[in-house]
Amino acid sequence: MIRVRFAPSPTGALHIGGARTALFNWLYARNQGGQFILRIEDTDRERSTVEANRAIFDGLEWLGLDWDEGPNVDGPFGPYFQTERLKIHQDHVEQLVKEGKAYYCFCTPDELDKKRKEAAERKEAPRYDGKCRKLSEAEIKARLDSGMPKVVRFMLPPMGETIVDDKIRGKVVFQNELLDDFVILKSDGFPTYNFACVVDDHLMEISHVIRGDDHLSNTPRQILLYLAFGWKPPKFAHIPMILGKDKARMSKRHGATSVISYKDMGYLPEAMLNYIAKLGWGFGDEELFLREDLIKKFSLKGVKKSPAVFDMDKLNWLNGKYIRQILPERLVDLCEPLLIEAYGNHDVEYLKKVVMAFHDRLVLIPDIVPLSSYFFKDEFDYDKKGVEKHFKTPNAKKILTALKERLAEVEPFTKDKIEPVFKALAEELGLKLGQVIHPCRLALTGTLESPPMYDLVEILGKKKVEERLSRAIKFS
Ligand code: GLU
Repeated sequence: MIRVRFAPSPTGALHIGGARTALFNWLYARNQGGQFILRIEDTDRERSTVEANRAIFDGLEWLGLDWDEGPNVDGPFGPYFQTERLKIHQDHVEQLVKEGKAYYCFCTPDELDKKRKEAAERKEAPRYDGKCRKLSEAEIKARLDSGMPKVVRFMLPPMGETIVDDKIRGKVVFQNELLDDFVILKSDGFPTYNFACVVDDHLMEISHVIRGDDHLSNTPRQILLYLAFGWKPPKFAHIPMILGKDKARMSKRHGATSVISYKDMGYLPEAMLNYIAKLGWGFGDEELFLREDLIKKFSLKGVKKSPAVFDMDKLNWLNGKYIRQILPERLVDLCEPLLIEAYGNHDVEYLKKVVMAFHDRLVLIPDIVPLSSYFFKDEFDYDKKGVEKHFKTPNAKKILTALKERLAEVEPFTKDKIEPVFKALAEELGLKLGQVIHPCRLALTGTLESPPMYDLVEILGKKKVEERLSRAIKFS
Protein backbone atom coordinates (compact mmCIF):
# COMPACT_ATOMS: atom_id res chain seq x y z
CA MET A 1 0.00 0.00 0.00
CA ILE A 2 1.38 3.41 -0.99
CA ARG A 3 1.04 5.84 1.91
CA VAL A 4 2.54 9.32 1.62
CA ARG A 5 2.26 12.34 3.80
CA PHE A 6 2.57 16.09 3.78
CA ALA A 7 3.99 17.18 7.12
CA PRO A 8 4.07 20.96 7.34
CA SER A 9 5.16 22.93 10.38
CA PRO A 10 2.45 25.51 11.07
CA THR A 11 4.74 28.50 11.51
CA GLY A 12 3.47 30.75 8.71
CA ALA A 13 1.67 30.80 5.40
CA LEU A 14 1.60 27.79 3.11
CA HIS A 15 4.33 28.71 0.67
CA ILE A 16 4.70 27.74 -2.97
CA GLY A 17 7.40 25.23 -2.03
CA GLY A 18 5.21 23.61 0.62
CA ALA A 19 2.25 23.50 -1.72
CA ARG A 20 4.40 21.79 -4.32
CA THR A 21 5.52 19.17 -1.79
CA ALA A 22 1.88 18.60 -0.88
CA LEU A 23 0.89 18.38 -4.54
CA PHE A 24 3.60 15.87 -5.48
CA ASN A 25 2.63 13.67 -2.54
CA TRP A 26 -1.05 13.98 -3.37
CA LEU A 27 -0.45 13.20 -7.03
CA TYR A 28 1.69 10.22 -6.19
CA ALA A 29 -1.01 8.85 -3.88
CA ARG A 30 -3.79 9.46 -6.40
CA ASN A 31 -1.76 8.02 -9.27
CA GLN A 32 -0.91 4.90 -7.30
CA GLY A 33 -4.27 4.41 -5.67
CA GLY A 34 -2.61 5.08 -2.31
CA GLN A 35 -3.38 7.26 0.70
CA PHE A 36 -2.44 10.90 1.24
CA ILE A 37 -1.97 11.86 4.88
CA LEU A 38 -1.75 15.32 6.39
CA ARG A 39 0.29 15.54 9.57
CA ILE A 40 0.79 18.84 11.33
CA GLU A 41 4.29 19.05 12.79
CA ASP A 42 3.64 21.56 15.52
CA THR A 43 6.30 20.58 18.06
CA ASP A 44 8.00 23.96 17.76
CA ARG A 45 5.65 25.43 20.30
CA GLU A 46 6.94 28.98 20.11
CA ARG A 47 6.52 29.31 16.38
CA SER A 48 3.42 27.19 15.73
CA THR A 49 0.13 29.07 15.51
CA VAL A 50 -3.54 28.31 14.98
CA GLU A 51 -3.63 30.84 12.14
CA ALA A 52 -0.88 28.97 10.36
CA ASN A 53 -2.87 25.73 10.67
CA ARG A 54 -5.81 27.50 9.10
CA ALA A 55 -3.57 28.85 6.33
CA ILE A 56 -2.39 25.32 5.53
CA PHE A 57 -5.94 23.96 5.37
CA ASP A 58 -7.13 26.93 3.29
CA GLY A 59 -4.27 26.64 0.83
CA LEU A 60 -4.73 22.90 0.36
CA GLU A 61 -8.48 23.24 0.04
CA TRP A 62 -8.18 26.01 -2.53
CA LEU A 63 -5.93 23.79 -4.64
CA GLY A 64 -8.30 20.87 -4.13
CA LEU A 65 -5.72 18.68 -2.39
CA ASP A 66 -7.91 16.57 -0.15
CA TRP A 67 -6.35 14.33 2.46
CA ASP A 68 -7.49 10.80 3.29
CA GLU A 69 -6.27 10.99 6.86
CA GLY A 70 -5.39 13.97 8.99
CA PRO A 71 -6.95 16.86 10.87
CA ASN A 72 -10.71 17.20 10.42
CA VAL A 73 -11.07 13.79 8.74
CA ASP A 74 -9.10 11.69 11.22
CA GLY A 75 -8.15 8.10 10.45
CA PRO A 76 -6.78 4.94 12.04
CA PHE A 77 -3.25 6.26 12.59
CA GLY A 78 -4.03 9.47 14.51
CA PRO A 79 -3.71 11.78 16.21
CA TYR A 80 -2.44 13.83 13.30
CA PHE A 81 -1.21 16.85 15.24
CA GLN A 82 2.26 15.99 16.42
CA THR A 83 1.88 17.68 19.79
CA GLU A 84 -0.97 15.27 20.56
CA ARG A 85 1.49 12.43 20.09
CA LEU A 86 3.85 13.60 22.80
CA LYS A 87 3.43 10.53 24.97
CA ILE A 88 4.19 8.27 22.01
CA HIS A 89 7.38 10.20 21.27
CA GLN A 90 8.51 10.26 24.89
CA ASP A 91 7.93 6.52 25.22
CA HIS A 92 10.06 5.92 22.16
CA VAL A 93 12.82 8.14 23.50
CA GLU A 94 12.75 6.16 26.71
CA GLN A 95 12.98 2.94 24.76
CA LEU A 96 16.20 4.10 23.08
CA VAL A 97 17.63 5.27 26.40
CA LYS A 98 16.86 1.91 27.98
CA GLU A 99 18.48 0.11 25.08
CA GLY A 100 21.60 2.26 25.44
CA LYS A 101 21.04 3.89 22.05
CA ALA A 102 20.37 7.33 23.49
CA TYR A 103 21.51 9.17 26.59
CA TYR A 104 20.75 12.13 28.81
CA CYS A 105 22.85 15.21 28.27
CA PHE A 106 23.12 17.91 30.94
CA CYS A 107 25.47 20.29 29.13
CA THR A 108 24.24 23.84 29.45
CA PRO A 109 23.53 26.06 26.44
CA ASP A 110 26.45 28.31 27.50
CA GLU A 111 28.82 25.41 27.62
CA LEU A 112 27.72 24.20 24.19
CA ASP A 113 27.95 27.69 22.78
CA LYS A 114 31.50 28.04 23.98
CA LYS A 115 32.48 24.75 22.38
CA ARG A 116 30.79 25.75 19.13
CA LYS A 117 32.79 28.97 19.05
CA GLU A 118 36.02 27.14 19.76
CA ALA A 119 35.27 24.71 16.91
CA ALA A 120 34.59 27.65 14.62
CA GLU A 121 37.95 29.16 15.57
CA ARG A 122 39.63 25.89 14.70
CA LYS A 123 37.65 25.99 11.44
CA GLU A 124 35.96 22.72 12.35
CA ALA A 125 32.30 21.86 11.94
CA PRO A 126 30.51 22.08 15.29
CA ARG A 127 29.94 18.60 16.69
CA TYR A 128 28.83 17.57 20.14
CA ASP A 129 31.90 16.07 21.84
CA GLY A 130 30.02 13.28 23.61
CA LYS A 131 30.84 14.56 27.10
CA CYS A 132 27.68 13.20 28.72
CA ARG A 133 28.11 9.80 27.09
CA LYS A 134 30.70 9.16 29.77
CA LEU A 135 28.50 9.82 32.79
CA SER A 136 28.09 6.90 35.18
CA GLU A 137 24.65 5.54 36.13
CA ALA A 138 24.98 7.15 39.54
CA GLU A 139 25.92 10.53 38.08
CA ILE A 140 22.96 10.41 35.74
CA LYS A 141 20.59 9.44 38.55
CA ALA A 142 21.80 12.22 40.81
CA ARG A 143 21.37 14.82 38.07
CA LEU A 144 17.94 13.57 37.14
CA ASP A 145 16.85 13.55 40.78
CA SER A 146 18.06 17.10 41.27
CA GLY A 147 15.84 18.23 38.37
CA MET A 148 18.76 19.54 36.33
CA PRO A 149 17.71 20.68 32.82
CA LYS A 150 18.46 17.99 30.28
CA VAL A 151 18.04 16.84 26.72
CA VAL A 152 18.27 13.36 25.27
CA ARG A 153 20.82 12.69 22.57
CA PHE A 154 20.99 9.88 20.06
CA MET A 155 24.12 7.79 20.42
CA LEU A 156 25.61 7.79 16.95
CA PRO A 157 26.90 4.38 15.89
CA PRO A 158 30.67 4.34 15.43
CA MET A 159 31.92 5.46 12.02
CA GLY A 160 30.71 3.96 8.79
CA GLU A 161 28.52 5.62 6.24
CA THR A 162 24.83 6.01 5.66
CA ILE A 163 23.46 5.70 2.17
CA VAL A 164 20.30 7.44 1.10
CA ASP A 165 18.97 5.64 -1.95
CA ASP A 166 16.90 8.51 -3.22
CA LYS A 167 14.22 8.01 -5.88
CA ILE A 168 15.13 11.31 -7.50
CA ARG A 169 18.74 11.98 -6.55
CA GLY A 170 20.01 8.41 -6.76
CA LYS A 171 22.47 7.11 -4.15
CA VAL A 172 23.77 9.80 -1.81
CA VAL A 173 26.47 8.72 0.65
CA PHE A 174 26.93 10.42 4.02
CA GLN A 175 29.94 9.76 6.26
CA ASN A 176 28.68 9.17 9.81
CA GLU A 177 31.74 10.86 11.26
CA LEU A 178 30.39 14.15 9.95
CA LEU A 179 27.27 13.71 12.07
CA ASP A 180 27.16 13.95 15.84
CA ASP A 181 25.07 12.75 18.77
CA PHE A 182 22.07 14.87 17.84
CA VAL A 183 19.31 15.83 20.25
CA ILE A 184 16.11 13.79 20.02
CA LEU A 185 14.27 15.19 23.04
CA LYS A 186 14.55 18.88 23.87
CA SER A 187 14.75 20.40 27.33
CA ASP A 188 11.04 21.33 27.12
CA GLY A 189 10.23 17.62 26.87
CA PHE A 190 9.26 17.84 23.21
CA PRO A 191 10.91 15.68 20.55
CA THR A 192 13.03 17.24 17.82
CA TYR A 193 11.84 17.21 14.23
CA ASN A 194 14.08 14.33 13.15
CA PHE A 195 12.91 12.10 15.96
CA ALA A 196 9.18 12.81 15.84
CA CYS A 197 9.23 12.55 12.08
CA VAL A 198 10.76 9.06 12.13
CA VAL A 199 8.48 7.72 14.85
CA ASP A 200 5.39 9.11 13.17
CA ASP A 201 6.33 8.07 9.65
CA HIS A 202 6.92 4.56 10.95
CA LEU A 203 3.77 4.32 13.05
CA MET A 204 1.68 5.86 10.28
CA GLU A 205 3.11 3.24 7.90
CA ILE A 206 4.39 5.83 5.45
CA SER A 207 5.83 4.06 2.42
CA HIS A 208 7.38 7.05 0.63
CA VAL A 209 8.73 10.28 2.07
CA ILE A 210 8.54 12.91 -0.66
CA ARG A 211 9.85 16.31 0.46
CA GLY A 212 12.04 19.25 -0.44
CA ASP A 213 15.73 18.57 -0.82
CA ASP A 214 16.52 21.00 1.97
CA HIS A 215 15.75 17.94 4.11
CA LEU A 216 18.22 15.65 2.38
CA SER A 217 20.84 16.37 5.05
CA ASN A 218 18.39 15.21 7.73
CA THR A 219 17.80 11.91 6.03
CA PRO A 220 20.95 10.05 7.21
CA ARG A 221 20.05 10.94 10.81
CA GLN A 222 16.55 9.66 10.24
CA ILE A 223 17.80 6.45 8.64
CA LEU A 224 20.08 5.86 11.63
CA LEU A 225 17.07 6.23 13.91
CA TYR A 226 15.08 3.71 11.87
CA LEU A 227 17.95 1.28 12.17
CA ALA A 228 18.28 1.88 15.92
CA PHE A 229 14.63 0.93 16.34
CA GLY A 230 15.05 -2.04 14.01
CA TRP A 231 12.51 -0.57 11.58
CA LYS A 232 12.60 -0.56 7.81
CA PRO A 233 13.04 2.98 6.49
CA PRO A 234 10.55 4.24 3.93
CA LYS A 235 11.61 5.13 0.39
CA PHE A 236 12.86 8.70 0.06
CA ALA A 237 12.37 11.17 -2.79
CA HIS A 238 13.83 14.65 -2.40
CA ILE A 239 12.50 17.22 -4.82
CA PRO A 240 14.74 20.03 -6.08
CA MET A 241 14.33 23.51 -4.74
CA ILE A 242 12.57 26.40 -6.40
CA LEU A 243 14.59 29.39 -7.59
CA GLY A 244 13.59 32.82 -8.83
CA LYS A 245 14.33 33.83 -12.41
CA ASP A 246 17.64 35.29 -11.20
CA LYS A 247 18.57 31.82 -9.94
CA ALA A 248 18.48 32.89 -6.29
CA ARG A 249 16.38 30.85 -3.91
CA MET A 250 12.70 31.75 -4.29
CA SER A 251 11.74 34.53 -1.93
CA LYS A 252 9.29 37.42 -1.66
CA ARG A 253 11.41 39.33 -4.16
CA HIS A 254 10.26 36.99 -6.91
CA GLY A 255 6.56 37.37 -6.25
CA ALA A 256 4.26 36.39 -3.42
CA THR A 257 5.39 33.21 -1.75
CA SER A 258 2.15 32.32 0.03
CA VAL A 259 -0.19 30.23 -2.09
CA ILE A 260 -3.43 31.73 -0.88
CA SER A 261 -2.33 35.22 -1.87
CA TYR A 262 -2.56 34.02 -5.47
CA LYS A 263 -6.25 33.39 -4.92
CA ASP A 264 -6.67 36.98 -3.77
CA MET A 265 -4.71 38.24 -6.76
CA GLY A 266 -7.18 36.57 -9.10
CA TYR A 267 -5.50 33.35 -10.16
CA LEU A 268 -7.64 30.30 -10.76
CA PRO A 269 -6.82 27.25 -8.65
CA GLU A 270 -6.55 25.04 -11.73
CA ALA A 271 -3.95 27.40 -13.24
CA MET A 272 -2.03 27.41 -9.99
CA LEU A 273 -2.20 23.64 -9.69
CA ASN A 274 -0.96 23.22 -13.26
CA TYR A 275 1.80 25.74 -12.65
CA ILE A 276 2.99 24.28 -9.36
CA ALA A 277 3.00 20.78 -10.84
CA LYS A 278 5.36 21.99 -13.53
CA LEU A 279 7.81 23.33 -10.95
CA GLY A 280 10.24 20.47 -11.13
CA TRP A 281 8.07 17.92 -12.88
CA GLY A 282 7.37 17.45 -16.55
CA PHE A 283 5.77 15.16 -19.09
CA GLY A 284 7.37 15.67 -22.48
CA ASP A 285 6.93 19.30 -23.44
CA GLU A 286 3.28 19.43 -22.49
CA GLU A 287 2.28 22.60 -20.69
CA LEU A 288 -1.41 22.23 -19.94
CA PHE A 289 -2.55 19.67 -17.40
CA LEU A 290 -5.95 19.46 -15.84
CA ARG A 291 -6.21 17.72 -12.48
CA GLU A 292 -7.15 14.36 -13.97
CA ASP A 293 -4.32 14.58 -16.48
CA LEU A 294 -1.85 15.28 -13.72
CA ILE A 295 -3.05 12.29 -11.76
CA LYS A 296 -2.74 10.05 -14.79
CA LYS A 297 0.69 11.28 -15.85
CA PHE A 298 2.48 11.97 -12.57
CA SER A 299 5.44 9.81 -11.61
CA LEU A 300 8.55 10.31 -9.51
CA LYS A 301 10.55 9.52 -12.65
CA GLY A 302 9.16 12.70 -14.17
CA VAL A 303 10.60 14.82 -11.36
CA LYS A 304 13.69 16.69 -12.47
CA LYS A 305 16.98 16.72 -10.61
CA SER A 306 17.79 20.35 -11.30
CA PRO A 307 16.12 23.24 -9.47
CA ALA A 308 12.85 24.61 -10.79
CA VAL A 309 12.53 28.27 -11.75
CA PHE A 310 9.54 30.30 -10.68
CA ASP A 311 8.41 32.34 -13.64
CA MET A 312 5.54 34.76 -13.08
CA ASP A 313 5.06 35.36 -16.82
CA LYS A 314 4.41 31.71 -17.37
CA LEU A 315 1.94 31.58 -14.51
CA ASN A 316 0.11 34.57 -15.98
CA TRP A 317 0.03 32.94 -19.39
CA LEU A 318 -1.45 29.80 -17.87
CA ASN A 319 -4.02 31.75 -15.93
CA GLY A 320 -5.19 33.51 -19.08
CA LYS A 321 -5.47 30.14 -20.81
CA TYR A 322 -7.60 28.73 -18.00
CA ILE A 323 -9.81 31.81 -17.83
CA ARG A 324 -10.64 31.27 -21.49
CA GLN A 325 -11.64 27.71 -20.73
CA ILE A 326 -13.86 28.18 -17.72
CA LEU A 327 -17.62 28.22 -17.95
CA PRO A 328 -19.24 31.63 -18.37
CA GLU A 329 -21.27 31.24 -15.14
CA ARG A 330 -18.13 30.70 -13.09
CA LEU A 331 -16.35 33.63 -14.64
CA VAL A 332 -19.34 35.83 -13.93
CA ASP A 333 -19.45 34.60 -10.32
CA LEU A 334 -15.78 35.49 -9.87
CA CYS A 335 -16.02 38.92 -11.49
CA GLU A 336 -19.39 40.11 -10.24
CA PRO A 337 -18.40 40.98 -6.66
CA LEU A 338 -15.37 42.91 -7.88
CA LEU A 339 -17.46 44.93 -10.33
CA ILE A 340 -20.13 45.66 -7.73
CA GLU A 341 -17.46 46.77 -5.28
CA ALA A 342 -15.89 49.07 -7.84
CA TYR A 343 -18.97 50.42 -9.61
CA GLY A 344 -21.95 49.73 -7.37
CA ASN A 345 -24.98 47.61 -8.13
CA HIS A 346 -25.97 47.01 -11.70
CA ASP A 347 -28.44 44.86 -13.53
CA VAL A 348 -27.21 41.27 -13.40
CA GLU A 349 -27.81 40.67 -17.08
CA TYR A 350 -25.75 43.74 -17.90
CA LEU A 351 -22.90 42.57 -15.65
CA LYS A 352 -22.93 39.19 -17.33
CA LYS A 353 -22.70 40.67 -20.78
CA VAL A 354 -19.81 42.93 -19.75
CA VAL A 355 -17.90 40.05 -18.18
CA MET A 356 -18.35 37.82 -21.19
CA ALA A 357 -17.19 40.58 -23.50
CA PHE A 358 -13.78 40.34 -21.80
CA HIS A 359 -13.62 36.57 -21.51
CA ASP A 360 -10.64 36.34 -23.84
CA ARG A 361 -8.80 39.38 -22.56
CA LEU A 362 -8.35 38.70 -18.86
CA VAL A 363 -5.04 37.53 -17.46
CA LEU A 364 -6.15 37.90 -13.86
CA ILE A 365 -9.74 38.06 -12.65
CA PRO A 366 -9.43 41.58 -11.18
CA ASP A 367 -8.32 42.87 -14.61
CA ILE A 368 -12.03 43.05 -15.34
CA VAL A 369 -12.34 46.18 -13.19
CA PRO A 370 -10.05 48.59 -15.07
CA LEU A 371 -10.76 47.02 -18.45
CA SER A 372 -14.51 47.48 -18.21
CA SER A 373 -14.65 50.90 -16.55
CA TYR A 374 -16.35 52.64 -19.49
CA PHE A 375 -19.26 50.23 -19.23
CA PHE A 376 -20.02 51.78 -15.85
CA LYS A 377 -18.69 55.33 -16.02
CA ASP A 378 -19.91 57.89 -18.49
CA GLU A 379 -17.22 60.41 -17.69
CA PHE A 380 -13.88 59.46 -19.15
CA ASP A 381 -11.04 61.18 -20.96
CA TYR A 382 -10.20 60.34 -24.53
CA ASP A 383 -6.86 58.72 -25.20
CA LYS A 384 -4.61 61.56 -26.39
CA LYS A 385 -2.98 59.74 -29.28
CA GLY A 386 -6.39 58.44 -30.28
CA VAL A 387 -7.76 61.99 -30.44
CA GLU A 388 -4.98 63.02 -32.86
CA LYS A 389 -5.45 59.96 -34.97
CA HIS A 390 -9.20 59.43 -35.05
CA PHE A 391 -10.95 62.66 -34.04
CA LYS A 392 -8.72 65.25 -35.70
CA THR A 393 -9.41 63.99 -39.20
CA PRO A 394 -11.48 65.70 -41.89
CA ASN A 395 -14.08 62.93 -41.80
CA ALA A 396 -14.43 62.36 -38.06
CA LYS A 397 -17.41 64.61 -37.39
CA LYS A 398 -19.20 63.34 -40.45
CA ILE A 399 -18.68 59.71 -39.51
CA LEU A 400 -19.76 60.15 -35.90
CA THR A 401 -22.80 62.20 -36.86
CA ALA A 402 -23.92 59.70 -39.46
CA LEU A 403 -23.42 56.84 -37.02
CA LYS A 404 -25.41 58.60 -34.37
CA GLU A 405 -28.33 59.24 -36.69
CA ARG A 406 -28.37 55.77 -38.20
CA LEU A 407 -27.91 53.84 -34.96
CA ALA A 408 -30.86 55.76 -33.51
CA GLU A 409 -33.00 54.03 -36.13
CA VAL A 410 -31.83 50.49 -35.36
CA GLU A 411 -34.50 48.30 -33.86
CA PRO A 412 -34.03 45.88 -32.12
CA PHE A 413 -30.64 47.16 -30.98
CA THR A 414 -28.73 43.93 -31.54
CA LYS A 415 -25.38 43.33 -33.11
CA ASP A 416 -26.71 41.65 -36.23
CA LYS A 417 -28.70 44.83 -36.93
CA ILE A 418 -25.84 47.10 -35.83
CA GLU A 419 -23.18 45.58 -38.05
CA PRO A 420 -24.79 46.52 -41.42
CA VAL A 421 -24.97 50.16 -40.33
CA PHE A 422 -21.18 50.35 -40.01
CA LYS A 423 -20.57 48.47 -43.22
CA ALA A 424 -22.99 50.54 -45.28
CA LEU A 425 -21.58 53.80 -43.94
CA ALA A 426 -18.01 52.80 -44.75
CA GLU A 427 -19.02 51.87 -48.26
CA GLU A 428 -20.97 55.06 -48.86
CA LEU A 429 -18.11 57.22 -47.70
CA GLY A 430 -15.57 55.18 -49.62
CA LEU A 431 -13.69 54.37 -46.38
CA LYS A 432 -12.25 51.24 -44.92
CA LEU A 433 -14.38 49.71 -42.19
CA GLY A 434 -11.64 50.49 -39.66
CA GLN A 435 -11.82 54.18 -40.46
CA VAL A 436 -15.42 54.16 -39.25
CA ILE A 437 -14.84 51.85 -36.31
CA HIS A 438 -11.80 53.56 -34.75
CA PRO A 439 -13.37 56.98 -34.10
CA CYS A 440 -16.48 55.24 -32.84
CA ARG A 441 -14.49 53.13 -30.41
CA LEU A 442 -12.74 56.20 -29.07
CA ALA A 443 -16.08 57.94 -28.72
CA LEU A 444 -17.71 55.08 -26.86
CA THR A 445 -14.83 54.04 -24.62
CA GLY A 446 -12.19 56.75 -24.61
CA THR A 447 -9.67 54.01 -25.44
CA LEU A 448 -8.12 52.36 -28.46
CA GLU A 449 -8.94 48.82 -27.41
CA SER A 450 -12.24 47.23 -26.57
CA PRO A 451 -14.27 44.12 -27.17
CA PRO A 452 -15.50 43.75 -30.78
CA MET A 453 -17.35 46.88 -31.92
CA TYR A 454 -20.78 45.42 -32.52
CA ASP A 455 -20.80 43.67 -29.13
CA LEU A 456 -19.69 46.88 -27.51
CA VAL A 457 -22.46 48.90 -29.13
CA GLU A 458 -25.12 46.35 -28.29
CA ILE A 459 -24.08 46.02 -24.64
CA LEU A 460 -23.86 49.77 -24.06
CA GLY A 461 -27.36 50.15 -25.49
CA LYS A 462 -28.93 52.77 -27.69
CA LYS A 463 -29.18 55.57 -25.15
CA LYS A 464 -25.57 55.49 -23.97
CA VAL A 465 -24.28 55.11 -27.52
CA GLU A 466 -26.21 58.16 -28.63
CA GLU A 467 -25.03 60.24 -25.66
CA ARG A 468 -21.42 59.27 -26.13
CA LEU A 469 -21.47 59.92 -29.87
CA SER A 470 -22.99 63.37 -29.22
CA ARG A 471 -20.26 64.15 -26.73
CA ALA A 472 -17.56 63.06 -29.19
CA ILE A 473 -19.10 65.07 -32.04
CA LYS A 474 -18.84 68.20 -29.91
CA PHE A 475 -15.26 67.34 -28.97
CA SER A 476 -13.95 66.40 -32.41
N1 GLU B 1 7.85 19.68 9.26
C1 GLU B 1 8.85 19.54 8.24
C2 GLU B 1 8.82 20.75 7.35
O1 GLU B 1 7.83 21.44 7.32
C3 GLU B 1 8.57 18.28 7.47
C4 GLU B 1 9.67 17.77 6.67
C5 GLU B 1 9.37 16.37 6.18
O2 GLU B 1 8.55 16.26 5.26
O3 GLU B 1 9.93 15.43 6.72
O4 GLU B 1 9.78 21.07 6.70
